[in-house]
Amino acid sequence: MPTFCDVALPVPLGTCFTYRLNGTQPVVGGRVLVPFRNVRLAGVVTALHDRAPSVEAKNVLDILDAAPVLDPELMRLGEWISHYYLAPLGEVFRTMLPLGAEVKQARAFRITEAGWKVLHESAERGSSRRSKKSADEQMLEYRVLDYLASRDGAREQTLRTSLRASRELLAGMVRKGWIASEDVSSRRDARRMRRVVQLKEVSGKLNENQRKIIETLAASGGRVPADDLRSLDVPQSTLGTLVRRGIVEIASEPMGFAVSRLETKSVLGYALNPAQTNALEEIRKRVGEKKFSVTLLFGVTGSGKTAVYLAAMQEVLAAGRSAIMLVPEIGLTPQAAANLHEIFGEEVAILHSALTRAERAEQWHRIRNGAARVVVGTRSAVFAPVRDLALIVVDEEQDSSYKQEEMPRYHGRDVAIMRGKFSGAAVVLGSATPAMESFHNAASGKYALLELPDRVEQRPLPEVELVDMRAEFQQSGEERVLSHRLIEEVRQRLDRGEQAMILLNRRGYSPVVLCRSCGETVQCQNCAISMTHHRRAQRLMCHYCAYQAPVPKVCPKCASEYVYFLGTGSEKLEDLLHGAFPTARIGRLDRDTVRGREDFERVLSALHAGELDLLVGTQMIAKGHDIHGVTLVGVVGADFALGFPDFRAAERTFQLLTQVAGRAGRGSAPGEVILQTYFSEHYAIRFAERHDYRGFYEKELQYRRWMHYPPFTSLANVLVRSDEMTQALKYSGVLGRWLEKNPPQGVRVLGPAAAPLARLQREYRYHFILKSQSREKLNSALRALLDFASAQKIPRGKLVVDVDPVSLL
Ligand SMILES: [Zn+2]
Ligand SMILES: [Zn+2]
Repeated sequence: MPTFCDVALPVPLGTCFTYRLNGTQPVVGGRVLVPFRNVRLAGVVTALHDRAPSVEAKNVLDILDAAPVLDPELMRLGEWISHYYLAPLGEVFRTMLPLGAEVKQARAFRITEAGWKVLHESAERGSSRRSKKSADEQMLEYRVLDYLASRDGAREQTLRTSLRASRELLAGMVRKGWIASEDVSSRRDARRMRRVVQLKEVSGKLNENQRKIIETLAASGGRVPADDLRSLDVPQSTLGTLVRRGIVEIASEPMGFAVSRLETKSVLGYALNPAQTNALEEIRKRVGEKKFSVTLLFGVTGSGKTAVYLAAMQEVLAAGRSAIMLVPEIGLTPQAAANLHEIFGEEVAILHSALTRAERAEQWHRIRNGAARVVVGTRSAVFAPVRDLALIVVDEEQDSSYKQEEMPRYHGRDVAIMRGKFSGAAVVLGSATPAMESFHNAASGKYALLELPDRVEQRPLPEVELVDMRAEFQQSGEERVLSHRLIEEVRQRLDRGEQAMILLNRRGYSPVVLCRSCGETVQCQNCAISMTHHRRAQRLMCHYCAYQAPVPKVCPKCASEYVYFLGTGSEKLEDLLHGAFPTARIGRLDRDTVRGREDFERVLSALHAGELDLLVGTQMIAKGHDIHGVTLVGVVGADFALGFPDFRAAERTFQLLTQVAGRAGRGSAPGEVILQTYFSEHYAIRFAERHDYRGFYEKELQYRRWMHYPPFTSLANVLVRSDEMTQALKYSGVLGRWLEKNPPQGVRVLGPAAAPLARLQREYRYHFILKSQSREKLNSALRALLDFASAQKIPRGKLVVDVDPVSLL
């Protein structure tokens, strides 16, 4: 029996830690609770061995899982993520396992020598009278000491409820050295049951008792509670033999939800058109090959990609295998969830950001024990512990919400591809505007390409009309938000009883607050960013850190009264439209009106039901809704992004314009798009006007080639951040000089330079950009840089390494 285990812990350190087993027997891929510094942490066991570490190993405190929670495929995927994105393995595993709710966090206190002394002295002297407040506080401190003196420690929760000692009071007593705290986190004992699960078909002979068990399993779909086997009256050892032969396993599962195996519904009769049928046929073929493949399903907006995914997933389910579909953050509305339940019944697990930790854990177990074999969810659903994975679909694969902007900074689409590779599954990426990298892979033959070139039911793509706002300004002599053309077209729609959507990708009332006297703009106190005026809320808000301030009556700098609010956000656009069309019913979709999925759904269903004439909003309105009454889409500001210092600005603008234009004309009446722009010559605008993805792709590819950007190079952004400017400067200087002296081979280093957002959430930010033709060389340069930083005692938390960044801001 091995003596030690290596554990990956969720701490920002690049190694695993060795613990002594002390008679307990965990499993590789299962979790254990261990002491780390002065806390208790849950980590995943990566190895069992007999190699004693150089320092004394602490004991494992508890075993959280009797069976692995990460199978070898998922362990391998985690190791790949850790290596590729330079993230500690323990942090990666924590992201992959939504099981935090199963560890009960707790802290306990006990009295110290110093505390005893204080208690004795107070008993002799009586309390010294000071102000009322501090006297009360002192009394409470003595009560806590007294309570602890008669016990072998007490939990924080007990002290807070029975003595009313606040967290601050206890922390103060710890600082004074009177009491000591310790982490006593433990496993939360969920009610669990043992279930017998058949793993494979029987090969070889069975005796009569064994056959009884296998027959019972077969009659109940391959899974049966262990207790149910008692009635068979077979000896326990029979089950043990079957386990040893690998035919069944005994899984410990939390109780409290039904694990019924419903009859899989017959494949819904989708009326697929020939292009859809062909796409489904191709996907079916690839799934049937049972080996890794990637297919890019490139279909224009309204071409019916979703019907193809769902039909393919149903076939997978009917074949007894599993499928995962990733969708962007905003895609999972309650309506979408209801549709999925309609199609897949109890066998679908839906993972969205509104789930509580406990619900997330429950879904995880449903997937793990085979009750749910179809998983639909946002980014982290890529880690769903399904067995026999046949198909992974990534819908709207270009969406930036697939990128996690915190450690580990993985990209859900790219992880989906690696998961497909490790599991031998077919991966389908779907989009009307594929990411440059994805289309390049398809064009170069690395991915298969499937196309849906037409909308369903021969509906035409909407007509796009450009309105040059510079010309509009010259004609009218005034800065207008809504052009004559757009006003006129909206009026026609209202007269005909049709609906329109207007996109302005900027929320709030006015994005700039300016003093005309001294020229100063009001900036966030935490970020180098202008505050946005929100008129209804009567606040200034920072859209990067959520800092709020009252609306100034006079300039904060020079006290002049000439404070002006400049520019237009979606809130103001709504007001302007009310002014232009007083009788129209207008709704707004942006982060201020939408707090959760329900709000989003409510506004959309009002539009669907014809209770709204006009819908205004940010990019939220651009994503995936199918509202048949909308015949006009107006774009008032989608090209601000073209001014951003980011190499993906053109790509993002093209994608947004195409997506929002795609909302028009999805019903029987044809659609039209009015695109107001200040950059009418820009190729992103020109190609969007013509619905010409390939044209855009070719042009953008040239630019990427000249500028050595992806897909021609691999890119990483290394950010140095600190709430002290001198420290941020010092660290970036140290790293910069080292990179200059030791230029990594085959890697171009740009910087250090102030990041485009030079200050964000109270932190000063400097960055380096590393580019390389070779993924390997980039990875080893980053690794060397991190090693050097660690040797220089630069805290890991001050460095952000972002591999394949979606934004360089
Ligand atoms: Zn001023
Ligand atoms: Zn801010």
